[in-house]
Amino acid sequence: MTVEQTLSIIKPDAVAKNLIGKIYERFENNDLKIIAAKMKKLTRFEAEEFYAVHKYQPFFADLISFMSSGPVMIQVLEGENAISKNREIMGSTNPKEAALGTIRADFAESIDANAVHGFDTLANAVNEIMYFFSKEEIYSYQK
Ligand code: ADP
Ligand code: MG
Repeated sequence: MTVEQTLSIIKPDAVAKNLIGKIYERFENNDLKIIAAKMKKLTRFEAEEFYAVHKYQPFFADLISFMSSGPVMIQVLEGENAISKNREIMGSTNPKEAALGTIRADFAESIDANAVHGFDTLANAVNEIMYFFSKEEIYSYQK
């Protein structure tokens, strides 16, 4: 039993479509606790720094424009195997390939506007949680 914390971002498309509550419900129904949260409009610089691992991908410029196009909702999720569980309930990067019942299958339109970001272990060059939250902004609490 490993209790983990992971970073999640509800992307500008899903925030604009009033889906914050519906997506939070998915986390909570899957025993992922929201232990920190903030709304923020990323600057281009922040988006570039956060997604630095994708710097040389052909989609990088579009990704940065999209992620800085409107407010996002950023949260820390805590729970058993939170990293893999969050990836599971998010669904595949391309919503067209995402399993039925996942966030991306149900709420996302395209591989660009795919509703949520989740930490994946490949992107661990930066500590994603510490990029957005100080220790004082994260609350570990019991049910
Ligand atoms: P994930 O968000 O599932 O971890 P990646 O880390 O591979 O996916 O990519 C980061 C983000 O970059 C994706 O969520 C998506 O918005 C965008 N992206 C990835 N691959 C493509 C692609 N082939 N075309 C357009 N955008 C992409
Ligand atoms: Mg990723």
